[in-house]
Amino acid sequence: MSRVAVVGAGTMGNGVAHVFAQHGWDTALIDVAPGLLERVLATIRANFERQVKKGTVTAEQRDAALARIRTSSSLDAVKDAELVVEAASEQPETKFKIFRELDRLAPAAVLASNTSSISITTIAAQTRRPGQVIGMHFMNPVPVMELVEVVRGMETADETVVKVVEVVKALGKTPVVVNDSPGFVSNRVLMPMINEAVSCVMEGVAAPDAVDQIMRLGMNHPVGPLALADLIGLDVCLHILDILHHDFGDPKYRPAALLRKMVAAGRLGRKTGRGFYVYRD
Ligand code: NAD
Repeated sequence: MSRVAVVGAGTMGNGVAHVFAQHGWDTALIDVAPGLLERVLATIRANFERQVKKGTVTAEQRDAALARIRTSSSLDAVKDAELVVEAASEQPETKFKIFRELDRLAPAAVLASNTSSISITTIAAQTRRPGQVIGMHFMNPVPVMELVEVVRGMETADETVVKVVEVVKALGKTPVVVNDSPGFVSNRVLMPMINEAVSCVMEGVAAPDAVDQIMRLGMNHPVGPLALADLIGLDVCLHILDILHHDFGDPKYRPAALLRKMVAAGRLGRKTGRGFYVYRD
């Protein structure tokens, strides 16, 4: 395979397109938001520039990679793709509609979703070929993070899993295959830890920097759970916990009241300048 289409050019989509283009894939990057694609190309260029400065990519490799990316505001641009990676907004109806269209527009392609929390089995059921639908859960920031959680839906064919595992390796990343389940493994393990850290603050057990320091210095985590929650976005954390709580029906996933209150107040973390910490830049 050498032709990919990435649907959605936000935080994740631009990183996914970057990595595929860097590894020699013809890359179509598609988004419906007006004016976004030009800004995204500038972001990808700036990110490549950083790699050139670090010496991990040459100027020639950067230029060749940028030349492999073409942008489009129409989903029709998927038609030559052998692999489609959907990284559109995390709303079930948005993704279901995209997959119904992908089924028609790219009949031979493997269809992957970068969803963090929506069932791959349900997404696959929107198509007439669930065997070719799979989860490719890249981590943020995509050019830097080594893991891709490969999610096997109930009907995903073995052949599709093998193909996608090979693709992930060819991108220089490490695939870990898991079965479809709410939050997969990554968020099912991470989000309860973040939620517990929030509860410690809420109950006055410790202040945010003390909680984070304990996890950094005591457990060797590179970043504390509350600083990480600020980076991910407290709204995103709440959304994923709500899904875990709803889908498992288990009170152990119930979001801490403080998390809900902070989201209601607009303290979403880095993106709004305030979460568990204050960000002045
Ligand atoms: P984002 O909001 O930054 O970007 C989503 C993009 O999708 C937007 O630019 C939007 O215009 C576009 N879009 C919406 N509908 C579309 C359509 N019909 N066709 C084409 N484009 C469309 O979101 P994001 O943070 O990049 O997340 C994208 C996906 O990746 C989500 O499923 C999310 O759960 C997942 N994810 C996010 C992270 C993260 O840290 N942000 C990590 C792992 C996975």
